[in-house]
Amino acid sequence: MTQTSKISAPIVVVGGGLAGLTAAVILGRAGRRVVLYEKAKALGGRAQTQGRAGYRFNIGPHALYRGGAARRIFAEMGLSFAGAAPRPAGGFAVSGGRKHALPGGFVSLLTTSLLRLPGKIELARLMGTLPKLRPSAAEGLTLRQWTEQQLRQPNVRALVQALARLSTYTNAPDRLSASVALEQLQLALSQNVDYLDGGWQVMVDALRHAADAAGVRVESGRRVVAVEHDDALRGVRLADGETAAAEAVILAMAPDEAAELMPGSASLRAWAQAALPIQAACLDLALSSLPQPRATFALGIDAPLYLSVHSAVAKLAPQGGALIHVAKYLDPTTASAAKDDEAELERLMDLVQSGWRQVVVDRRFLPSMTVSHALVEAKRGFAGRPGPAVPGIAGVLVAGDWVGSQGLLLDASIASAKQAAERLLAAAPAQAAAA
Ligand SMILES: Cc1cc2nc3c(=O)[nH]c(=O)nc-3n(C[C@H](O)[C@H](O)[C@H](O)COP(=O)(O)OP(=O)(O)OC[C@H]3O[C@@H](n4cnc5c(N)ncnc54)[C@H](O)[C@@H]3O)c2cc1C
Repeated sequence: MTQTSKISAPIVVVGGGLAGLTAAVILGRAGRRVVLYEKAKALGGRAQTQGRAGYRFNIGPHALYRGGAARRIFAEMGLSFAGAAPRPAGGFAVSGGRKHALPGGFVSLLTTSLLRLPGKIELARLMGTLPKLRPSAAEGLTLRQWTEQQLRQPNVRALVQALARLSTYTNAPDRLSASVALEQLQLALSQNVDYLDGGWQVMVDALRHAADAAGVRVESGRRVVAVEHDDALRGVRLADGETAAAEAVILAMAPDEAAELMPGSASLRAWAQAALPIQAACLDLALSSLPQPRATFALGIDAPLYLSVHSAVAKLAPQGGALIHVAKYLDPTTASAAKDDEAELERLMDLVQSGWRQVVVDRRFLPSMTVSHALVEAKRGFAGRPGPAVPGIAGVLVAGDWVGSQGLLLDASIASAKQAAERLLAAAPAQAAAA
């Protein structure tokens, strides 16, 4: 492809979360001129970690899938992060207001009071077959349809739905694609996840460092208010009225935010309208000690609840202290009541970590955090997700956890960011940074 007068215009990345930063680094390292605009003062979006009194608060529970696309792409980029997987021992399944051993291995399966013998037999069989299952065989089915077709025991169905909720964050068994849930469950069970030392901010900081080294111009505190185009892309307009020419633009943000920047794009509007966000209510707790040191994990079976002591394996709290994330997976189709949700999360703490109220150093309740911008519906599956190219205007692409045909959550964000960057590189191969 010939180099045109556009050679002087940089590629503009809008959004300084992990997706935008990843795309910017890939492009910068390939010798492209890149400017990244982030509207907030701090980079990182939902991957930021706040330091409070020596504790590291992620925004709700964050775990990096060991076998996922994000980890693989970061490794290709030379970035790796220290952390550790949650330990299976000490896990509870909570059902009927009582704690039971969470059946994760052979011993807990035999001993748990969660299931009677027929349930144990059915679960043992499923644990044997699940790793070999082809998720595509469940295409078109919802998670509930699949569990009802494949499993007879109500408690085993509920347990599988709870495990799928845990790994997808999605509390909508009547809508969630069974094939997507199974793929994510296999990813979680086969390779587990890591809680990162220092929190997810370490990924933000590493990418920022890589962006600087690659010559990316990073401008935070700068909101983009429009993508300017006529029959071709011209650039972006910023909130202060400045315009910046762009050879191409990657919108690494929520679908409704992207649609606002290009009101004339029917595709972006349709994608934003179709996206059903997945949200969670999060209670993040810093304790001076852990009242019940052996109780490090709990999963609600008959209620969409989660509790995990992230500091049990990752460096997130001072010596002797504990950093705990408690969360409720919100039903995306019904309104939630923040006060009730917070009280429900506190009751789960009472059940699992009795005595916690006396040792609180700091706490933060986030009533509805958007974990992912779009649930993957059974009728569409991964293949139905949009982007990264936006039809209609050449040179505009999107990236995020709602984009592309690969993975969920951060894995989708990073896979789509890489795909968007590589599309631009393929369209106009390397220019020297100095060009
Ligand atoms: C409670 C919670 C728990 C989670 N747990 C997990 C987990 O365990 N595992 C996992 O893989 N994922 C998890 N996630 C999801 C993960 O955090 C996100 O998928 C990922 O951080 C998204 O990165 P992103 O860059 O795509 O989007 P974001 O982080 O949302 O970044 C988008 C950025 O764009 C900026 N922006 C928007 N509009 C403009 C504009 N007009 N101009 C300039 N800048 C703009 C925003 O300020 C923001 O910084 C969790 C999320 C939450 C909230």
